[in-house]
Formats: sequence, C-alpha cells, structure tokens
Amino acid sequence: MTEKTKPGKVYIIGAGPGDPGLITLKAVECLRLADVVIYDNLVNEELLKYAPIHARIIYAGKKGGDHTLSQDRINKLLAKEARGGSTVARLKGGDPFVFGRGGEEAEVLAAYGIPFEVVPGVTSAIAVPAYAGIPLTHRGLTSTVAFVTGHEDPTKDKSDIDWQALSGIGTLVFLMGVKNVVQITEALIRHGKSPDIPAALIRRGTTAGQQVLAGTLSSIAGLAQTNHFKPPAILVVGPVVNLRDTLRWFDTKPLFGKGVVITRPQRQADDLARLLAAQGAHSIAFPTVSITQPSDWSELDCALSQLENYNWLIFTSANGVHFFFERLCQKARGSK
Ligand code: SAH
Repeated sequence: MTEKTKPGKVYIIGAGPGDPGLITLKAVECLRLADVVIYDNLVNEELLKYAPIHARIIYAGKKGGDHTLSQDRINKLLAKEARGGSTVARLKGGDPFVFGRGGEEAEVLAAYGIPFEVVPGVTSAIAVPAYAGIPLTHRGLTSTVAFVTGHEDPTKDKSDIDWQALSGIGTLVFLMGVKNVVQITEALIRHGKSPDIPAALIRRGTTAGQQVLAGTLSSIAGLAQTNHFKPPAILVVGPVVNLRDTLRWFDTKPLFGKGVVITRPQRQADDLARLLAAQGAHSIAFPTVSITQPSDWSELDCALSQLENYNWLIFTSANGVHFFFERLCQKARGSK
C-alpha cells in the first residue's frame, strides 16, 4: 500500500487548559504524526510546535458563539482530510469530551467509518481551580462535585439542568458561565443554596494571565460586573473555595503576571523561557540576534587540521562550541 492510499486517521486530542506543560505525552506523540492539525480557540498555540514542519495547520476558531468554522464545517473538514489519507490531529482545549463537542466529532467519524482515537486531556474544569489553589473535593468539606454548562440561561422556560438537584451537590463547577453568572447564582439561591457559600471566578487559569475573583454566591455576580470580568472563566461554588486562602501557590509566584520579552536567538530562548515560566512569568520570543555560520571557515579549518598540536581548547560561548563541533563532524564525515 502506498502512502497515499493508506486510510487516514483522526486523533481527537485534549490540549490541556492553557499551561503548555499540561499536555499529555500521548498527545505530543500524536501531534508528531500529524499531516494536518485542526485546533480550537482555547488551545495554546505554543503546542503547535510539536507538529511536523510539513503539517498543515488549520485554525477552527470558536470563541463563545462566534465560530470561524461552523461545527458542521469542522466535522466535514475532519472527514475530508482523513479520507484523503491524512493523519489528522484534532486539537481541542482541555479534554475533548468535557463540553468540547469531541463526542459529536467522533460520532461523525464513526458514521463515515473513519478510524479515530481519543486522547483525553487535562480539563480546565479541574486544572483551573487547582491553579487557583482550590481542590474540588476535600475530606470534611465535600464529597460530591458536578460539572455544569453555564451556557444555558437558567431563566429559559425549559432547562436541561436540574437546578434542584444541583443545590444538593457540594462543589459546583460551571464552564462557559460568565455571560449568565447573574442568572446562575440567582437560580442556585432560589433552589436552596445558601447565598453565603463561597464562590470564585477564575479567568485564563493556568496561564500567566490568570485572574481570580473570590466572593460568595450572592456577591460574585456583582464583583464580576464591577471588574468587567470576561470569558473564558470557570465559576466554582462551594466551601472548598475558602481553601484558596491557604493553598494559593500559582498566582503568588514572584514574577506572576509579568510578560518578559526574550531577545536572545530563538534556539537559546527556550531555557530562559522555562526558568521565567517557573517563576510565573509569561515570555514572548522576540529574537533580535540570529547566530549564523561564519562566511569564512579558513581560520577554524586551519586549526582543525592540526588539532593534535594544541594542549587546550578554550571556548568562549555555547555558539562557538556548537559550530566548532558541527564543522569538526562535517570534516570527519568528508574525510571518510
Ligand atoms: N473541553 C474544555 C472545555 C470547553 S468549554 C475543557 O475540558 O477544559 C470552554 C470553557 O472552558 C470556557 O468557557 C471556560 O469556562 C472553560 N475554560 C477553558 N480553558 C480555561 C481557562 N484557561 N481558564 C478558565 N476557563 C477555561
């Protein structure tokens, strides 16, 4: 079977909640196999570096209700690419099966008989509260947790959400709830949740742009309005929210919230970026210098040809080491 006639395959991959370190090893493996990557709005674009150079990268968008590509067109695109023989990485924010419409995409592939695999991701529903210092369950505080879409307006005539049942759950996690935060909190209070229960809104969690608003069920909507709080955010309601006071760990880092422009050459920026990220900063690669080969190798070639005459080799930079050994290997290969 030639490359072209091989049937394609779709990997429906969870990209994690934002922090690029929260992607799984399996997701990276699958990205490395991709001919085409189709990714959503909440996916950290840094992860696209794992795709091979030849891979086509397609942005499928989806921000609130605005779709760059409609869900129907995304489904058709997945099917078309896979049928053409491509390995498709369908990269979705968080976990693809948690309010991610990954199930719908898989249904379409199943209907067309296209092979697919699902690579679960770290869902924002759990990771975002964790980065805000909020464990969703905690012995003695709550033993039940529910994940709820906040997309649905609770005041609409017929709700798919059982608000009465929700009021009996210890920790409630709402995704996509910023727009409806007033209606959600009012509905919970109406159905028996205490207005004094702690509540928090976490925006762009797990990233250097993380913002947290903490209050109570009765105050959080007002706080969101005064602070012009925008999506994407997660609303957590329950006594576990108070643990943030003692368990905060991410947004207390010394460089948290700071953006740092790294002017070093691309190849050398990664280590510094990693160190900065460990201290909470967000780095922007802006290489102002690029290290290239010398136009004239003659001096180095001369030294290389009589290496045995030197007692010491002293390098003054990592770039020197790199080019020295590159040239040395080149010469060794050439003389074989
Ligand atoms: N499948 C995704 C959820 C998709 S629904 C997952 O498992 O995480 C999109 C919603 O996820 C957003 O409206 C927001 O509520 C939440 N979300 C995703 N990433 C987030 C982040 N970094 N910070 C806060 N909320 C986030």
